[in-house]
Amino acid sequence: MKPGRKLRDLFTAFDSHKDLIYLDSAATSLKPKSVVEAMGASLGKNYGTVHRSIYSLAREATSRFERSRELIADYIGAKDASELVFTRGTTDAINLVAHGIERHFSEGDEIILSVLEHHSNLVPWQLLAERKKLKLKYVNADSYGKINHSELEALIGPRTRLVALSHMPNTTGILQDFSAHFQKAKKFGAFCLLDGAQSITSSKIDVTTLGADFFAFSAHKIYGPTGLGFLWGKKQALEQLSCRDGGGEMIKEVGLYESSFAELPLRLEAGTPPIAEVLTMGAVIEFLQQFDFKSLLDHKLQLSSSIIEGLLEIEGAKVYASSGQSSLVMFSIEGVHPLDLCTLLDCQSIALRSGHMCAQVALKRLNLETALRVSFGVYNDYEDVEILLKSIKEQLPKLR
Ligand code: PMP
Repeated sequence: MKPGRKLRDLFTAFDSHKDLIYLDSAATSLKPKSVVEAMGASLGKNYGTVHRSIYSLAREATSRFERSRELIADYIGAKDASELVFTRGTTDAINLVAHGIERHFSEGDEIILSVLEHHSNLVPWQLLAERKKLKLKYVNADSYGKINHSELEALIGPRTRLVALSHMPNTTGILQDFSAHFQKAKKFGAFCLLDGAQSITSSKIDVTTLGADFFAFSAHKIYGPTGLGFLWGKKQALEQLSCRDGGGEMIKEVGLYESSFAELPLRLEAGTPPIAEVLTMGAVIEFLQQFDFKSLLDHKLQLSSSIIEGLLEIEGAKVYASSGQSSLVMFSIEGVHPLDLCTLLDCQSIALRSGHMCAQVALKRLNLETALRVSFGVYNDYEDVEILLKSIKEQLPKLR
């Protein structure tokens, strides 16, 4: 299937918002009708508890639940479904790692991050650094948000215990390859984590080729339900994680004073999981598999390039994206507050992001406090770009 406007018919939101120009898929994607229907069935005819009871509804739900795990693991190229842990989202997956690896850190150890990280891949490490008296080291980026790779290379050393980086920052939309850096870090015994919240939306991921120990992503950005995320980890890396949460299903045997734990991945999934959301993932994977990811990324890159071209014709517009490389476009217009423009565009049924993008450090690096961001899903096309650019030009005189 090819991305574009004709896919609007497949999405529930466009039925009730006929004129909607949705340009905020990097925040969350709209949901295909097939996924909405699957969610209804997961809460309805297919519903049952998992891993607990032996009556047929529960047994069937459990086997569907584990089948979903296999499908997602297979989708990202994992060697085994047990390498995939269900979480509440990317944020939760990263926090699960931050707590799980805590005991491997000693005072003065170093964590390497970039200035482009989403708060989800920054604050958990600040909290860990505070708990364990660690040093945070940051690799810089240029004014287009490109990471300085030689600086990163130089930062990695014998005290490096963790390198945690965004595979595709939500401010630049540029896919990054850190495999060589991870290889170096691993020689020093460090863990390597990739925040895959954005890259999973635009590229075919094969976790075995990334060089990372952990890869975190969310279902809601890939046309799936909210409240569900994934932590993929190499078996040896997951085995080194202590349990952050204790509770039902993560145990083997519980005594008054101590417990023994279940095998992976259940050991890291305490409590009743998001059953309906996991069951819905079969429909999500089926939807995604209809696309060729190379052409999906190309489509986004082309739409971005055409927005960049149009924006640069507007006086005072500044674009923080590279034509041909960025799959989303962050921009600002001199003398115009992003919130004001966004509000006026909303009156034209155009939805785009304004604010700090949950990446205040990245925005500061670009000398910004707030900005606007356009990002794409499979339903976007050049027509959306044209409508957006035309509307921006119409609204600007009201704001200047
Ligand atoms: N990392 C990046 C790069 C993101 O874009 C996001 C979502 N905006 C997250 C992490 C956090 O994802 P979630 O809110 O689904 O946990």
